[in-house]
Amino acid sequence: MSARILSGKEVAAELRSEVAERVAALANRGKSVGLATVLVGDDAASQVYVRNKHRAAAAAGMVSFDRQLPADASPADVLAQVEELNEADEVDGYIVQLPLPEGLDPEPVLDAIDPAKDADGLHPVNLGRLVLGKPALLPATPSGILRILDYYGVVTEGASVVIVGRSVLVGRPLAIMLGLKGRDATVTLAHTRTRHLSELTRRADLLVVAAGRAGLIGAEQVKPGATVIDVGTNRIDDRLVGDVDFDRVVEVAGAITPVPGGVGPMTIASLLANTVAAAEAGAGE
Ligand code: NAP
Repeated sequence: MSARILSGKEVAAELRSEVAERVAALANRGKSVGLATVLVGDDAASQVYVRNKHRAAAAAGMVSFDRQLPADASPADVLAQVEELNEADEVDGYIVQLPLPEGLDPEPVLDAIDPAKDADGLHPVNLGRLVLGKPALLPATPSGILRILDYYGVVTEGASVVIVGRSVLVGRPLAIMLGLKGRDATVTLAHTRTRHLSELTRRADLLVVAAGRAGLIGAEQVKPGATVIDVGTNRIDDRLVGDVDFDRVVEVAGAITPVPGGVGPMTIASLLANTVAAAEAGAGE
């Protein structure tokens, strides 16, 4: 039997229209919502990502601000830009597009972002609040994954979850989110040093794969009926594929996200959701 397809595209469309309604509600009270991006250098892929973020912000009724610095900008130049956005009343949330050009350390730049405007949800203060179970701006990709699970009614309470990949962007915060009270999953976080990965993944009710290795997970690594979330995006020739062998796993799993059209569309939608949440917090809601 073929698995149910969990369409991130569909869930992202719902989230984006919900964000647009919240932006309109703020506009009715005279408050516009502003999202800014900082792009340093001329990396072609980053330019595309930034353009997509501006397009999505405009579609949600937000005002967007495009700050660009040359590739030879100094650390002080980038920090000055961050400080300017921290002070700008018309900017509710912003992101610094990564990677920064070689020679620029991202850590002090990301640390300088005002946590209340941290649209990517990756500032140490927000990650700390997440660990404590306090309200925070949450990392975009993991919160997008939770939204997909909620939309399709995937129950995490008591579920055995395996996450492959422990990056700060995806696996590590997702492990914390799924283990919090209310989500109540039992989580195993796997990585390159994990022994007997297949045995672990075969026991998972929910398997999340965020390794960036095409074909890492085949049908024999998946428990029949499990939910499989494929975060990986790998370019093979001209095709975008995930970390999961979709054509085989779709015959074993109970539900699965496709690539493209799965987790990917949720990331920008979650960025917009963080920005409107920051604006609401700033407006005292
Ligand atoms: P990353 O920082 O490179 O982390 C990859 C993680 O996977 C590491 O923890 C690594 O283990 C683990 N890993 C790699 N190969 C493995 C293997 N063979 N067995 C077990 N674990 C393995 O990558 P990332 O930024 O988290 O991204 C992961 C993937 O998700 C990439 O394809 C990226 O493009 C994609 N992604 C997609 C979205 C989206 O919106 N769809 C968003 C973010 C990322 P170690 O820690 O031991 O090295």
